[in-house]
Amino acid sequence: MYLSGSKWNTRKRRRRSNPWRVLGLLLLIGALLYLNSFILPETPPFFVATLVPTRSPASLVLEGESLFQAGKLAQAKLSYLEAIAIDPQNPEYYIELARIQVFTGEYAEAVSNASNAVLLDPNSARANAVLGWALDFQAFADPESASTLEALERVEQAVELDPNSALVRAYYAEVIIDDDLEAYDRAREQAEQAVRLDPNLLEAQRALGYVWERTGNYALAFEAYQNALRINPNLAVLHIAIGNMYFVQQDVQEAIRSYTTATTLAPEDVVPNQLIARAYAQVGEFGKASQFAQAAVDLQPTNPRLHGDLGRMYYKNGEYESAIASLALAIEGSADPAGSQVNFYISSPDVIHAFEIARDLQQKNILTLMCGNVDGNSMTKQLLRKGVQLGWDTRLVPLGPEVEHAIYALHWAARAGITFGGMKGGDFKKILKYSKDKVFAFAMVLGPLNDRIWTTGAGAIDMGFPAIANTDIPVVHPTGVTIYEEVEKELDPKKIVERCIEVRGLKITVSKPPIPVAFGPAFEGERIRKEDMHIEMGGQRTPAFEWLHMVDLDKVEDGKVTIVGTDAEARYKKGGQMPLGVVIEVAGRKMQKDFEPVLERKIHHFINEAQGIWHMGQRDQNWFRVSNAALAEGYVLRHFGDILTTQLKHKFNNIVDKVQVTLYVDEADVKRIHAEAQKAYHERDVRLASMTDESVDTFYSCLLCQSFAPNHVCVVSPERLGLCGAYNWLDAKAAYEIDPNGPNQPVLKGEVLDAVKGRWKGVDEFVYTNSHQSLEYFNAYTIMDAPMTSCGCFECIMAIVPEANGVMVVNRGFTGMTPIGMKFSTLAGTVGGGAQTPGFMGIGRFFLTSNKFLSADGGFKRIVWMTKNLKESFAEEFKKRGVAEGIPDLIDKIADETVAEDSEKLLAFLTEKGHPALTMDPMF
Ligand code: SF4
Repeated sequence: MYLSGSKWNTRKRRRRSNPWRVLGLLLLIGALLYLNSFILPETPPFFVATLVPTRSPASLVLEGESLFQAGKLAQAKLSYLEAIAIDPQNPEYYIELARIQVFTGEYAEAVSNASNAVLLDPNSARANAVLGWALDFQAFADPESASTLEALERVEQAVELDPNSALVRAYYAEVIIDDDLEAYDRAREQAEQAVRLDPNLLEAQRALGYVWERTGNYALAFEAYQNALRINPNLAVLHIAIGNMYFVQQDVQEAIRSYTTATTLAPEDVVPNQLIARAYAQVGEFGKASQFAQAAVDLQPTNPRLHGDLGRMYYKNGEYESAIASLALAIEGSADPAGSQVNFYISSPDVIHAFEIARDLQQKNILTLMCGNVDGNSMTKQLLRKGVQLGWDTRLVPLGPEVEHAIYALHWAARAGITFGGMKGGDFKKILKYSKDKVFAFAMVLGPLNDRIWTTGAGAIDMGFPAIANTDIPVVHPTGVTIYEEVEKELDPKKIVERCIEVRGLKITVSKPPIPVAFGPAFEGERIRKEDMHIEMGGQRTPAFEWLHMVDLDKVEDGKVTIVGTDAEARYKKGGQMPLGVVIEVAGRKMQKDFEPVLERKIHHFINEAQGIWHMGQRDQNWFRVSNAALAEGYVLRHFGDILTTQLKHKFNNIVDKVQVTLYVDEADVKRIHAEAQKAYHERDVRLASMTDESVDTFYSCLLCQSFAPNHVCVVSPERLGLCGAYNWLDAKAAYEIDPNGPNQPVLKGEVLDAVKGRWKGVDEFVYTNSHQSLEYFNAYTIMDAPMTSCGCFECIMAIVPEANGVMVVNRGFTGMTPIGMKFSTLAGTVGGGAQTPGFMGIGRFFLTSNKFLSADGGFKRIVWMTKNLKESFAEEFKKRGVAEGIPDLIDKIADETVAEDSEKLLAFLTEKGHPALTMDPMF
């Protein structure tokens, strides 16, 4: 909903009220209030419902209507409450009360009263329509508590019940456009029909104005709102809407006039004052802006946002001391400037514990974005002095030397809502809420604070990210902006990471193997250069392999690590190079042969998570390095075994009951066991090659990403992996065994509905249910017709290139332009969020090598452009695909960024090379 109040209802009653009667009634109200206050203090408060029906409900309703027409919403509400107290079985009273409660921003109460009306009369079109409309507002204000889908269902039912109701059509129009801005045509039709049905219905005119406003047709919106205003000139929300239309059309003076009228009609409402302040600020009159911002604060002195607005106006007006005081109150959430304890120049220890803090954050797998400095010294500099590797790979990312560089972190966080939450740019309320609920960020403020740091911190807090300082600052208890504390302190540097985790409400479980170096995913990206290396194994320098296989339970001594070889530890200590064969034997009642490669692939991650240890490759193409630093910490050979035994048990505890590891370091042993391992690798390859989508009757889901893309469903089949690349069919199957109630569930394919496009009845049913009815079906093998949804984690994005009759593929990490004029980041915003977008699709990289890749659209031959990185990574596989397609040099006909970054050059390249897509059937 707009702050402006455009999404507010105003309504003309069909039966016009008599102005003389209204005047008489108002005088009567005045007289009674006078009596109540000055003459008869024991008289019960006026307008409070009494259990004794002293008035007829009809007269109260008449009174409510009149008060509504006069713009006195609070009093009108009381009239209906009194009517309900007298006759609680009449649905009409609940309907009218709910409508007014929407106007007054009490959406939960409005939903509750509209629901009561529906309970009393389920076939009432008006009751259902008002319920839908209230749900629409509720969903806008708090997406967790209601959904526009629910709202839509209600108003659709209302339309079915009474298609000729202008009121119902008006509400329907609003809900449609709130549910889907793209559906503006349908929304406009409904609003226009509402106006045709009853041109004197205020809701109808207002709904039409709202639809025009949402679609950017401000002049038409203005006209419709003016029509509404002629029907009832006493509603503040309408004047606000008109003011907004003036404002967006740059007529600031007229906008201020409209907002001022709104303040006189609703003197208790902060919104008009806020808008006047904004309007004056727009034309640079910050002195006046701060006066109105102050008026808003006076109305709600405990609202920190209003203090924040006021602080900004003071700041712009050059009144820095007042700005600091207001912004401090905004941060502190305090209502009492005199009682404020904020000190802007607090002395404190510097960031000498940067190294320990960074290491702690890394071990807990927390991405750290660093900015700011204290007297020219910064955490970034301190870590560099300590020789700590910085960058995305080690999850310690410097943003810049100034505190304002925090904007990059906040911007990145805001993008999460757009990329993963399916929000549109400008949906600031939704994005703020998404940040608070789903982006688990916090600000750790090290060193003394100044006004710039406080102000930047306020920006972070506004997004729901608490700030935790290591200085003695005043704390701020929850006000609802963040989930728990807003500003907290922890003076002990050893405890500050824990405190941050606690304040943000994070749940982090760390299982550290018994090794002397730090351990965590953040160390996976570490590199060990030759000069920092103590010893290496494999990497074509020495024979090496790693092989995991299952054995019977009684053959495994859990946790045992055996080293086989002559003078193993002494050779290890000496350094240089040595052979290494790693044999892991696992046993478990639920363990299956199919899970062996799944577990074996984890060796790479587990070993790499140890600080100072590096691993690459798999099977007999592996390579280990141990750094001098790790050796100095006491890392010995058997620690490889300790990592593997503990982590395999910890991560796969449902299928792995026992693990033992044997390390072979003599060349003869390594070569002998390697021959055995090779046989096992070959058997697995044969089994995997025989697995097709047709050869199994069960696929697996992955719903992991629903935590941020609520309707997204990955369906993982033998020939199509999850779009993040992390889950293939075997992974998902193993994950289901590990956690039968987790996000990877078996999906029975059921009846084949379309073998070419890849559609099955069982899959459709699963997708429909698990996408919360937002997706009726999907096709696995086409990009053109109901492709799989994309959450935002995709390794690559495919998009149709219409001019070339083919598709392009761009991988994450490629920052250049693609021939369709969009970079990866722009495409990600378009495709992500769990939406099904024909012509666009997120995929895992390995899907490119699958026989089912776009098989319904012509297969691999449809690729006309892909990044050089992708071409090089899969050179061998792509050559094989070319041979399979009957065009051995197909890969050479595919353009990349070195030959084409726009469609013109792309077409010229494809024509010159004779790319097959140019002569294939049109894609659409
Ligand atoms: Fe699961 Fe990956 Fe799909 Fe996310 S993208 S739902 S993690 S398979």
